[in-house]
Amino acid sequence: MSFSITPLLVGVRNVDQGIMTWQRGYGKRIWLPIWSFLLREKGGEGRILLVDTGLEDFVPPQEFIDETGLDAQLMEDALAAVGIRPEDVWGVINTHLHDDHCGNNPLFPNARIFVQTLEAEACRNPHPVDYRYDASYIDGVNLVELDGDAEILPGLKVLLTPGHTPGSQTVVVETDEGPAVIAGMCSNQENFPASGLAVCPGVHCNAYVAHDTAQALKAMRQAGAELYPLHDLTVATRAKA
Ligand SMILES: [Zn+2]
Repeated sequence: MSFSITPLLVGVRNVDQGIMTWQRGYGKRIWLPIWSFLLREKGGEGRILLVDTGLEDFVPPQEFIDETGLDAQLMEDALAAVGIRPEDVWGVINTHLHDDHCGNNPLFPNARIFVQTLEAEACRNPHPVDYRYDASYIDGVNLVELDGDAEILPGLKVLLTPGHTPGSQTVVVETDEGPAVIAGMCSNQENFPASGLAVCPGVHCNAYVAHDTAQALKAMRQAGAELYPLHDLTVATRAKA
């Protein structure tokens, strides 16, 4: 089964590039778009899933709109704009549980929410240096904990790709144009230069492991998959019908 991909812009932050690329690009301010990826199963039951659910609430700065020509919306509004109600969502895959990737999880009453067990544990008992977990985003939802690589549906699987966080997962989606890979680490295109090694994410729980994950993602791109970094502006133009 293949899926369409519709990127929804559901948040934005203004940060230093070094948040994305370890020991590279420090001192350069960037817009950090926060995407939710809407997946629609083509054929079959036509199930609807989201990869990540963005920030709980925010107001896009006018400068972002002026400088990028993009506009960010609250999750409910972004879904309504493409004709989907929260109750239509069959499943949510959280790449990881930092607040900009799961902030709207409680919005979806009928969704099973797929996370890695390692990540759920990190969220419930966060290390003191990681202040971006909030267990309220996984309390009271229909959480499905995964232990490693797993098939979610035919044509849709997750790979355990730790390093950014203890249980980050990458999503591999079949589309009519070939496989798409939604990177299980906060990154933008600067992490994946055309030549040379991929760059370790600026935020990580283990730099060695995160470095290896970055290389694995780049290798998937080199093998022909389309790679979607979680925080890249170019995602706006990369919908798959
Ligand atoms: Zn992020």
